[in-house]
Order: sequence, then structure tokens, then C-alpha cells
Amino acid sequence: MAKKNIPYDQKYYDPEIECMPRPELEAMQLERLQEMVAYAYENTVWYKRSFDEAGVAPTDIKTLKDLEKFPFVDKKTERETQHVGSFFGEMCSVPEEEVIFMATSSGSTGVPTVSPFTQEDFDLWQDTEARLFWQAGMRPTDRYVHGLNFALYVGGPDVIGAQRLGALAIWVGAVPSDRLIFVLQQYQPTVIWTSPSYAWTLGEKIKEKGLDPRRDFSIHTIIVAGEPGGSIKSTREAIENLWDAKVVDFFGLSDIYGACAAACEAHDGLHIVEDQILVETVDPATGEVLEPGEVGELVYTTLMKKARPMIRFRTGDIGYVSNEQCTCGRTLARIHITGRKDEMFIVGAVNVFPSDVEYVVRAEVGLTGEYLIRVYDENFSTRYEVSVERAQGSDEPFDAVAARVSAALKAHTGVKPAKVLVYDAGKLGTSSEHKASRFIDERKGA
Ligand SMILES: [Zn+2]
Repeated sequence: MAKKNIPYDQKYYDPEIECMPRPELEAMQLERLQEMVAYAYENTVWYKRSFDEAGVAPTDIKTLKDLEKFPFVDKKTERETQHVGSFFGEMCSVPEEEVIFMATSSGSTGVPTVSPFTQEDFDLWQDTEARLFWQAGMRPTDRYVHGLNFALYVGGPDVIGAQRLGALAIWVGAVPSDRLIFVLQQYQPTVIWTSPSYAWTLGEKIKEKGLDPRRDFSIHTIIVAGEPGGSIKSTREAIENLWDAKVVDFFGLSDIYGACAAACEAHDGLHIVEDQILVETVDPATGEVLEPGEVGELVYTTLMKKARPMIRFRTGDIGYVSNEQCTCGRTLARIHITGRKDEMFIVGAVNVFPSDVEYVVRAEVGLTGEYLIRVYDENFSTRYEVSVERAQGSDEPFDAVAARVSAALKAHTGVKPAKVLVYDAGKLGTSSEHKASRFIDERKGA
């Protein structure tokens, strides 16, 4: 599809969709859902079998709520059906020759899952990325550095969305910091996409070289994804201060699109592309559907994807949905993700997420912002321990830092950590490139 001709000061890329009154939006969703469920049933081995087994048929969808009657799919379904019977397996709805692109998951929760796209899916995806980039403030006058991995990763091709919008796209990928810093200095791009932890690490590395991220570079917008940081106020503001740029949080999943939701200037949840994805929230234990605003597991149904429709895909993400109109004017619902189902831990009947700990560690002064959480069982109870780093040059005693962080964690989460361990700056070793792992789960059965 060609570049759209929009005045650069126009706020919305596609106002008709982004600001559609909800009754109209829901009517459109229902029509698309009916078509998609029928398409999935007629063309997909797995959906035919699972709908038949559940005793449901596409004609049962009379309202959006009727979707509740249909069975879920999850990562396990993907894994167990992929490559069964054909190369893309039982969840794929088209012959292999119609698939023109595949991405895979990182495999962080088991065998990587393969995500197929038809040409039509791929084009729609890139139009969607262009819309989200516009929402983040990118315009055709921008120079955009795509700092995401291209190797099998679904975030790689998102760069084409920036080209579609008309920006100058610089395909950098995941390169060593020195190379990236050279690109940023030499070509003075204005927008970059990376992970929040890497945006932070990169800024610090620039300072180590005697340069100033605020003065010596032209970045005005940093798009982040892959970790919760972009929606944690203290993390976002720390990165914004470091770079004198705004941080915009994006969300995607390899099972659907590189990005399918993005923050707006309100920073109050991420608008999901509801014209293409229907969102439900369910009780993570029972699967029962919850009301908007209630916290549960987020479940997505794709309304347009042809290669592999996702009907009621359980994401494992815990959060809630708000569907009242946003102060930015958009009517598309916002998702608020608080954490991963498998990373939530319960201490003394309180649910704690790694993102709660991150909030505190980034908000407290005198720390580097790096942290490591260890969750373990002791005397039949779950406990958590947090390691932090004292800021460069700080001479505050370790026990004073530990006491202060422990009190702040208790105040924010409601439960005190069993221990806070304090290290000197750089000693924790978590400030790795790109996606950082800061969560060690030693619970039995984890
Ligand atoms: Zn908004």
C-alpha cells in the first residue's frame, strides 16, 4: 500500500478507525468476528476439531459476548499442533505456498513457536505499524533507527511500517553498542526503538565516552517494548531525563504482530488495534470472563489474520482493559499490563509482580536502577529477595541503602522482602544488552 497523504500536524493516522464511536466499532468487530470464526472453522484442522469437540459452531456468534462459548488456545496448543500434518501444522489455515513470512518466538517459555503470515497479513501488519508509529509522533521528516533484532524476531519487519509512513528507515538491528553509538552520532536520527533497559544502558555508555545523550544526539522519541519499563512511570521518566526525549511504550507478541498496541501522550495504558484484535480479560484460574477494569489474564482474538487466526489466545499477561474514551480522543480500548502470569508471586496473600519491584528501584535515589529478584520457598511460604546497586560514587552505607529500599518495597507492594542485598555499581551484571533477565524463580514447581 502506498504512503498516505496526511498533513504532518494531523494527530491521527486513521481518525475514522482510531476515534470510531464504540457502538460502531463493536458492530464492525462483530461482523469481522463472525467472518473470522467461520473462516477458521472451514479452513483449519485444529479449529474444526476443537469447535466440534466443544459443541460450538460459527453460527453461534450472534453477539461479541458469544465468543465466551468457544475454547481457548495458548502457547501449548501452538507448540503441539505446529508441523503436525503439514509444515505450518494444524493451526495454519492456508497452504504453505501462500505463506510469505515466518517469525518465531524467542523460546523463553519452551520450544519456539512459528508464526506464519500471508502477503495480505504482512501488508496489513505494516499498515498497522505505520499507524502506531504516527501515534508515537513519527512523521515523514524523521530519521528512524530500528534497533531490534532481525533474526526470526517478529519485531524485525516493523521497520517497514516506518518506511510506509514515509520516514527514513535505518535498518540497524541488534548491533554492539559502539556501532549503534556511531550510527546515532554520524546520522543523527530522531527516533529509535529499543528495549527500556537498553535505552538506559546505551545512555550510560554514551556518558562513559564523555558524550551527552541530551546534547550530542538528535533523538526526540524512544520507542520501547519487550519489558514492562515503558509503562512504569519512574523508569520512563528516568530514560526521558537521560536523553531529553519522550518514551513511548509499544506492545506486541510473536503470535500476532510485532506491535499491536501503543501508548499515547496520556501514558495511561496502550491503545490496542481493536479493529483487528478483540480483547477479553479472563480469570487466570477458571477462564471465566471478567468485566472491563477487572484484573485478569488478557486473551486476544485476531479478526483479520488469514495464515493463522488466533481465536481466544491466552497470552499469560496479567492486566486489565479500559474501554472508555481516552483523553487523547481515541476510542480504541487500552490494555494495562501489570506482569506475566508465570512471574507473579504471592507473598502473605499479596500478589507481587517484578514490575512493582522495578517501580521502586527506579524511583529511589542513590541507586543505579539495576536489580535482580529471587523468589523462593521457605517453611512452606514464598519469599522474595531483591538485589540492587548503589549509584556510582555513592558512599551511603550498604545497610542504610538496604533498609531504605526494604521500606520502600513494603510501602509500594504491601510486603517486605526477606532481604535486600546491596552491591556497588556495575557489580550485579544485569545491565546486559537488549532484553535483560532480572527474575530468578526458585519456587517448587516453577
Ligand atoms: Zn490515548
